[in-house]
Amino acid sequence: MSNKRQKIVITDCDHPSVEIEKKILSEINPELTLETCKTEEDVIAVASDADGIINQYAPITRRVIESLKRCKVIARYGVGVDNIDVEAATEHHIIVANVPDYCVDEVSTHTMSLILACARGITLLDRKIREKKWDFTLAKPLFRTQGKTLGLFGLGRIARMVAQKASGFGFKIIAYDPYVSEANSKIEMVALKRLLSDSDFISIHVPLTVETKHSFGKNELKAMKKTAYLINTSRGPVIDEKALYVALKEKWIAGAALDVMEKEPPDWEDPLLKLDNIIITPHISFYSEESYVELKTKVAESVRSVLKEELPRAMVNPQVTKRKIL
Ligand code: NAD
Repeated sequence: MSNKRQKIVITDCDHPSVEIEKKILSEINPELTLETCKTEEDVIAVASDADGIINQYAPITRRVIESLKRCKVIARYGVGVDNIDVEAATEHHIIVANVPDYCVDEVSTHTMSLILACARGITLLDRKIREKKWDFTLAKPLFRTQGKTLGLFGLGRIARMVAQKASGFGFKIIAYDPYVSEANSKIEMVALKRLLSDSDFISIHVPLTVETKHSFGKNELKAMKKTAYLINTSRGPVIDEKALYVALKEKWIAGAALDVMEKEPPDWEDPLLKLDNIIITPHISFYSEESYVELKTKVAESVRSVLKEELPRAMVNPQVTKRKIL
């Protein structure tokens, strides 16, 4: 390693401060800059000579990666890395670090909140009261949750915590995940067809990949029960929202609850926003005061580790070995 100060660029960050990151990274005394990149060009302009990049939403595409002259690590504030071209980073021996475990409690609780809000008509009734309508029958029909089936699409960290919480409410849990063969005694692994036909609630917990994009389109929505609800706290494009709109409008399913959308924020004229049988929250599942601190701490620690020639605590592309990158 040369004696030159290492440069770390935070491409974008909507947190109120980056003091936590500064404190942790001060151990390696870097030149640290906080930018407001939105486009590929913005990132290329500020980060081409960076040794490490911390990133939130700005696109880290193949073009951006090819412009990086000496970058060793790109660390993302979050679990999903769908805004980073991981394949290109791997080809260039750049470690992509994420924080897979900072908000499992928050997302699973948010998922349960959405499931229960659907099950009890909470947001619909609250909206009606503000229109001066005190009438519980507006939410009819509602059904008992005890003994109903919750289907998990993807059975990773968050889904398993949802299963743990939902089983306390008496849900029967089934799951579809082609990469998981065994769950536990409380979760039955099933084929996708059965997940769609048997679930009273389907909750999505997969990463956004080429394979998972639009996993829920016309055919899948038609295969669900008419009384079922679709919950998504993973990534918006896993659902084809045009198909979802038709499904909700024509009552193929009872309702949906989304924390994530294909476009965030959505167009305010988006017809989905005008339906009564949908709940939407603004991509907040990850957030609590505690998870913020954990996220920022772990991102900064990962970058510090790589720039000290150590492996980060979590990496998305373990193919980039220590030997290759340093
Ligand atoms: P995880 O990696 O632990 O689990 C993902 C699971 O999806 C894995 O078990 C994997 O085998 C499965 N999977 C992959 N492809 C699949 C497919 N085609 N069909 C079915 N299953 C498939 O991830 P996690 O921590 O549980 O998080 C899940 C997702 O939630 C993340 O990828 C992220 O995009 C999203 N997330 C959203 C928020 C938010 O604030 N809304 C916060 C954290 C995470």
